[in-house]
Amino acid sequence: MRVAIVSDIHSNIEALDAALAHAEASGALDAVWCTGDIVGYGADPIPVIARLRALGAVCVAGNHDLAAIAMIGVRDFNPVAAEAALWTATALDAASRAYLRELPLIASVGDFTLVHGTLRRPEWEYLLDGLQAEAHFALQTTPYSIVGHTHVAMHCAEAPVATLVDAADGETLALGETRLILNPGSVGQPRDGDPRAGYMLYDDAAGTVTWHRVEYDIAAAQRKIIAAGLPEMLATRLAHGI
Ligand code: ZN
Repeated sequence: MRVAIVSDIHSNIEALDAALAHAEASGALDAVWCTGDIVGYGADPIPVIARLRALGAVCVAGNHDLAAIAMIGVRDFNPVAAEAALWTATALDAASRAYLRELPLIASVGDFTLVHGTLRRPEWEYLLDGLQAEAHFALQTTPYSIVGHTHVAMHCAEAPVATLVDAADGETLALGETRLILNPGSVGQPRDGDPRAGYMLYDDAAGTVTWHRVEYDIAAAQRKIIAAGLPEMLATRLAHGI
């Protein structure tokens, strides 16, 4: 089984399609898993949701998905994120709202648990250090878990001491006895200075995950953000990966 693992797509259909095409070009895809923030920031929430639905993707909700359907407030969002969340709320159609409403906060699939932030605070906590990783591991009941939210590709082994390690483009990690937390990076709004779409490919026959970065039509995504009347900095940052 080969699985494309995506996160933090943020309504960027150009980036999602580029990542999925890259995954399919390297061999048949059997599944898509998504660790949340499907919408928010970008201009194409409906096409992104439609793509994930059509693929039967296993998805969990991120804070931006919940804000777009008013299941959480935007008080803790920065002003630009709040404006984008309110825009997304008005842009969604009924079917897309229903899809987001049904998303769980945590999903288990095989040896993996999917959650947007951490198992301690699924929709909010940024997993940024070893102590947070230990608290997350204490709640993890599967060998491996996949998180998003930070928009930075990362792996963290439980032993000997939980330590976060950035994952590079093309890096492959063999899955073994050690329990792991994995972050595929962000498809639609990377924040590590590399503007290319990030995703991770899981190959269960090989027992590996591999991180990838993929070029996509950033200018097209930017034009749509401007045309939609969303804050201009949401378009600008796509070119810089910040
Ligand atoms: Zn996000």
